Amino acid sequence: MNIDKSKPVLVTGATGYVAGWVVKRLLEEGLIVHAAVRDPEDPAKLKYLNQVARNAPGTIKYFKADLLKSGSFADAMANCQVVFHTASPFKTDVKDPQKELVDPARLGTRNVLEEANRVESVKRVVVTSSCAAIYGDNADLLDTPDHVFTEDVWNTSASLDHQAYSYSKTVAEQEAWKMAEAQSNWKLVVLNPSLVMGPGINPFGTSESFNIIRQLGDGTLKTGVPQMGFGLVDVRDLAEAHLKAAFMEGAQGRNIISGHNTDFPEMAAVLHEKFGAQYPIPKSTVPKWLLWLVGPMINKVLTRKVVMRNVNYPWKADHSKSVRELNMTYRPLKDSLQEFFQQMIDSGQLPTPGRT
Ligand code: NAP
Repeated sequence: MNIDKSKPVLVTGATGYVAGWVVKRLLEEGLIVHAAVRDPEDPAKLKYLNQVARNAPGTIKYFKADLLKSGSFADAMANCQVVFHTASPFKTDVKDPQKELVDPARLGTRNVLEEANRVESVKRVVVTSSCAAIYGDNADLLDTPDHVFTEDVWNTSASLDHQAYSYSKTVAEQEAWKMAEAQSNWKLVVLNPSLVMGPGINPFGTSESFNIIRQLGDGTLKTGVPQMGFGLVDVRDLAEAHLKAAFMEGAQGRNIISGHNTDFPEMAAVLHEKFGAQYPIPKSTVPKWLLWLVGPMINKVLTRKVVMRNVNYPWKADHSKSVRELNMTYRPLKDSLQEFFQQMIDSGQLPTPGRT
């Protein structure tokens, strides 16, 4: 990889789970990282990034920026060669999906890329999209050629009322492509990661990834998990993908970044193997009919349509483009899950075994 260390790079949403590892790797490469954050005065949020910066050759500089404020990224982007646009809310428990998910995703992307259009030095933009921009429901797999999700597939089943997070990622990525095609100063490379797991730079991250691993150990899911497939990638592998997308000459287009085609029962089994004696990790699956019946009462995200179109469906994506064009390698599923779970224990978010 040919990395020019003289010009800074911008990371939007630098306080986030995925961005934390991206910033760490960039600092390890000796780069000047412009970290755009909502509140640069909040010491709790910056503590972990500061720790990383102290132990790495690169330099971090903080800039205040909000996705929804026009012109907000001007100072942060000045003189940058690369923009990593990771900021976008990843949460499912929302009251107003338009305001809480779609606006920051789509308008935020537009805002960041409009700034890139004004900054001559920006030559590459890496957008952290998602596999959620490829599919809305697992049932969509049946409509794909060869029953596998590839970079050619777009999510057409999500909407504001159904899988709103996936909808937000779809319209945001579409906005990015539209804007990229309307100019010629910078190249867009999109990453489409599946569910991200693995220890965070900040053990107290608020990304939905943390809720999922926590709920597998705190008893929330002790009666069982749905038989539902999804893809999974380690947060550290995803950080490598960001660097490759930014600095490899041939990086282009959309890129599925997903280490494993897996499902909830396999995820639980991998955790059970190491932690099952001390933690109420689910051992069985909840039948689809029961989830259909009670799902909406347990969790408003588990609507009957979500249950119908996802439970008892496998998930399969083809990550071969990432291996071929980005030289990606993926660590074992076990490492991502068990190390993430251990971080939950070490940081006191799951009870230490033997203590009440
Ligand atoms: P995260 O930890 O919640 O990070 C989201 C970041 O976006 C935070 O830094 C947050 O800032 C920032 N943000 C949200 N609203 C903002 C606003 N209005 N203005 C400025 N910044 C704002 O989630 P994550 O899991 O790291 O997700 C990062 C990216 O990866 C997202 O684009 C997400 O869609 C994508 N992704 C994640 C996964 C996954 O499984 N985690 C999978 C596929 C794709 P604050 O810290 O101030 O809240």
